[in-house]
Amino acid sequence: MSPQKHSENIPLVSREYHPNDTVIDFGNGLKIGGNQSLTLIAGPCAIETEELIMDIAAHVKQRGAQFLRGGAFKARTAPHTFQGHGEEALKWLKRAGEKTGLKVVSEVLDTQHVDMMEEYVDVYQVGARNMQHFELLKKLGKKKKPVLLKRGMSATLEEFLLAAEYIAQGGNDQIILCERGIRTFNTYSRNTLDLNIVPWMKKLSHLPIIVDPSHGTGAAEMVKPMSMAAVACGADGLLIEVHPQPAEAWSDGDQSITYEMLEEVVAGVRGIAKTVRR
Ligand code: PEP
Ligand code: MN
Repeated sequence: MSPQKHSENIPLVSREYHPNDTVIDFGNGLKIGGNQSLTLIAGPCAIETEELIMDIAAHVKQRGAQFLRGGAFKARTAPHTFQGHGEEALKWLKRAGEKTGLKVVSEVLDTQHVDMMEEYVDVYQVGARNMQHFELLKKLGKKKKPVLLKRGMSATLEEFLLAAEYIAQGGNDQIILCERGIRTFNTYSRNTLDLNIVPWMKKLSHLPIIVDPSHGTGAAEMVKPMSMAAVACGADGLLIEVHPQPAEAWSDGDQSITYEMLEEVVAGVRGIAKTVRR
């Protein structure tokens, strides 16, 4: 579909109608979008215990993260695997955020959880499997908190933008897009991280876009090179899964990086950021 046709269907998120970048302001100088400094969202796939989320919070903060992530409701492919601790975990996440000064991000799976989660999270995450859960998007559109919208695993750029438009339609224009890899014929990585979409999104939309190299590759050792590549092509930030003992993680251990690896990723990314003047 041509960019012209695009814009007609997305009057709220298209750059054609809103040339200036959307900047989401979290206070205290913390902003996402525009030409602000890079955002780092880090944390475990799932919130496993209160002690662990506290430990991870302190360590990712020390290494430059501004946001702590962690799933309380997990959209697992296999039904017999750990599904998350639910609201209890959100309490731990909130405490970890308060203790460290990190803003917190967690996935909302269900329309029925939107109001409850409002008191715990700073940013609602919509997972890839829910990118076209339109009732959820509409409900989040009525909220005042920012929404981190992950690209569906087989969503086109247009479908991704239309999903964002659903949120914006309700009045919530604080939307962060997130590329997390798509399904292709390739079998060597969990997903195919589509970095093409970053400059394309910058061209077609004013919304910030971040990249998740963890789900995008499925492999811890690939997180650093793809984080650097993401920043080089204009991403506003990164979402990275971190766990002190990846082999023991209750979910997504293969792609989770240790604190030491996070330090290396941050160092690599800083070099690139300087080059691209971020
Ligand atoms: C996650 O962030 O842990 C997650 C489930 O991601 P996605 O929705 O991209 O698969
Ligand atoms: Mn995960």
